[in-house]
Amino acid sequence: MNVKQINDNIVETCARVNRNPKDITVVAVTKHVDVQVAEEVTTSGLSNLGENRPESFLQKYEYFGGKVTWHFIGSLQSRKVKDIINKIDYLHSLDRISLAKEINKRANKKIKCFVQVKTSYEDSKHGISTEELVSFVKEIGKYEQIEVIGLMTMAPFTEKIEIIRSCFATLRKCQEEIKKLALDYAPCTELSMGMSNDYSIAIEEGATFIRLGTILVK
Ligand SMILES: *Cc1c(COP(=O)(O)O)cnc(C)c1O
Repeated sequence: MNVKQINDNIVETCARVNRNPKDITVVAVTKHVDVQVAEEVTTSGLSNLGENRPESFLQKYEYFGGKVTWHFIGSLQSRKVKDIINKIDYLHSLDRISLAKEINKRANKKIKCFVQVKTSYEDSKHGISTEELVSFVKEIGKYEQIEVIGLMTMAPFTEKIEIIRSCFATLRKCQEEIKKLALDYAPCTELSMGMSNDYSIAIEEGATFIRLGTILVK
């Protein structure tokens, strides 16, 4: 388990850019590990767990229940919403109006959502385009169970640091635009960005939630 080293690195990166490490939440992505390893992750001090498929989430949820804070980070099919929506604490992948509508129908409480934004030209990536984001967020206002607490993105898998950095910087600019709208259901104070290979860059660019999988168990 690599948690101490990761925490040290977060502290160091924050110092470099004048940020408070307390403003960064590590979401431990447990999708590749079993319940025993996930238990070790929580024992080492991480209490936010992330899963990307309903089946694997439900399996872990059966074991941990509400003892940890749950993040659903993968793309979510509308027909699976009812199985998970009242068990999770955060949804990182709101990427279409039909999903918002289904969440609104099934949720028993306000759901904290990140709107997933496409910040690179890779076709395979889910997410709202930067051009459509403002109108998307405005339309979300119809669905009273949805709170847009922030934006989420995935940078492309590349060695080119400047490409990664520009994706994260784009997300931050998008955040400023949404904040300017001053919508009460969309405070948009958070940025979910950065994974095992790029989380330091994400912190430099303003991430408040980083999603770490492989690096935790290396
Ligand atoms: C798997 C996954 C992660 C974690 O990726 P690592 O490279 O293993 O850290 C983060 N975010 C999403 C959406 C994922 O699916």
